[in-house]
Amino acid sequence: MSAKLIDGKALSEKLRAGIATRVSDLKRRGKEVTLAVVMAGNNPASEVYVRNKIKACGDLGIRSLSYRFPENVSERELSDLIGKLNADPSVDGILVQLPLPRGLDEQKLLAAIRPEKDADGFHSVNAGNLFLGRPAVPACTPAGIMELIKSTGVPIAGKHAVVVGRSNIVGKPVAVMLLGENATVTVCHSKTADLKSFTLSADILVAAIGRGRFITGDMVKPGAVVIDVGMNREDGKLCGDVDFESASRVAGYITPVPGGVGPMTITMLLNNTVGIAESG
Ligand code: NDP
Repeated sequence: MSAKLIDGKALSEKLRAGIATRVSDLKRRGKEVTLAVVMAGNNPASEVYVRNKIKACGDLGIRSLSYRFPENVSERELSDLIGKLNADPSVDGILVQLPLPRGLDEQKLLAAIRPEKDADGFHSVNAGNLFLGRPAVPACTPAGIMELIKSTGVPIAGKHAVVVGRSNIVGKPVAVMLLGENATVTVCHSKTADLKSFTLSADILVAAIGRGRFITGDMVKPGAVVIDVGMNREDGKLCGDVDFESASRVAGYITPVPGGVGPMTITMLLNNTVGIAESG
């Protein structure tokens, strides 16, 4: 391997120390930072994510309120709770864990959260403000990706950034953030013809595809910054969208999976929550 490893765990720990200091500063001024976590159903992956988020809050001194509902919860019950949390001045951030059980309108429920309390940055007002270059609560995974890229010290302005994947939660917002940092951005997707011709010209390559080891070393420009967002299960093991072994021989910098983007996503959720509390 010739690429330098971008260590998301180490960067997360550093950022979390700074967030913990901000949380204690607020506590000294009488403000207890609070995140409300709403979960419905018993999706095993969501159980793990929610547990990790609540633990991370506890580690940093953020109070978490956990609301659990059965699979057959009605949209009304959830929107009533969101309404109460919106109106409660002691609650800073609200997070509705996705996916919700089938039959519930996720977009409608996310839209019910007050944009100022939208800790995940999924509300259309926040997505719209990001698009317009206005202050917004940023989506967590894309914000974490930007921190990882910046941690390399490689300037973003003027570089060609290629994002593979155009989902609303990763690909599109990270493309807008890269554009905001003056990269020249190309967004690729499943209908892109000759994907390799784009990835090979990427100074910064973000892979958010959901297909294990899809980006191989022969698709990477020598010296590129490669961010692997993928979290795929293969034979019970976690693997990224990038074939680490071949890509790390060509790239200049690369994130591992696990230990790259994953830890940064929760860190950015905590960062958003304390940011909301500071602005309240
Ligand atoms: P989505 O399934 O919503 O989007 C995948 C994107 O990849 C789509 O835009 C799709 O194109 C594109 N794509 C699929 N196949 C190809 C192909 N053959 N060539 C080019 N593009 C292709 O996934 P997400 O964005 O939600 O997640 C992507 C990955 O990141 C997943 O592995 C997910 O688990 C992981 N993830 C990790 C997080 C973390 O914290 N580490 C957080 C969120 C996601 P099209 O639009 O044309 O269908």
